Amino acid sequence: FKTLDLQNQSKDELYEMGETFNRMMGRLKRNYEKQEQFVSNASHELKTPLTVIESYASLLKRRGMSRPDLFEESVEAIHSEAIRMREMTEQLLMMARETESFSIALEQHDLAGMVNDMARSYGTAYQREIEVETPSSEPCYAYTDINKAKQLLVILLDNARKYSEDSILIRVQPDASYVTISVTDYGPGIPADELPKVFDRFYRVDQARSRKQGGTGLGLALASEIAAQIKAEIGLESTYGKGTTAYIQFPVHHLA
Ligand code: ADP
Repeated sequence: FKTLDLQNQSKDELYEMGETFNRMMGRLKRNYEKQEQFVSNASHELKTPLTVIESYASLLKRRGMSRPDLFEESVEAIHSEAIRMREMTEQLLMMARETESFSIALEQHDLAGMVNDMARSYGTAYQREIEVETPSSEPCYAYTDINKAKQLLVILLDNARKYSEDSILIRVQPDASYVTISVTDYGPGIPADELPKVFDRFYRVDQARSRKQGGTGLGLALASEIAAQIKAEIGLESTYGKGTTAYIQFPVHHLA
């Protein structure tokens, strides 16, 4: 280590050091505030399903079996809110792990092959037609972590399934710098002014609509963190009332 000899530094150098220190402190403070905001949002979001579970459970305790209609509604609500809480905690844990970059292995992978395999298995799982458009039967190589790439595609496919009822289209488009994978659905779409916000943690366009579909508001936030880790770009295009296309651009070459 080099010890700082402040007495031998010129005035300008000392001023520069002070500025660097201030910038570092500013960054630390902003990170701390962001972290604090995240913890407070997470507690708030977890409290909402808990409140629903608690009130339905106490209703069941009071009225018990005497009201079959109430019984069914309560069990249904408790079940779906418990599922939402589980998904939320799983996604929060995944997000916390995303900061550990050692789990990433960037290599050449054929993304067309990956898309075809996933379309087949998710089509069966969702019982939905998943169409695939690739430029040819040739492989499309990109420089990525295959597990993270799959995780990203699952998040986008899951949204397409949740927010639409028709078929889903996956396109693979390679060019000199990127392989772009896009997932198109013909669902309700997202209003233009809401588009930039859907990547924020816990943000949901329409709370009532999203609640019915059981979203957590964490999927796209998690996706952008994963994308940043593997140097991919993620984005959304949507026409309100017509549908949504979510895309990921995977670099073809190693990016420094
Ligand atoms: P979640 O789907 O769990 O609520 P996301 O972060 O994945 O969380 O998405 C945030 C919000 O963006 C969703 O609640 C929904 O309102 C909107 N959204 C995302 N994908 C779509 C889509 N394909 N079609 C319509 N709305 C979408």
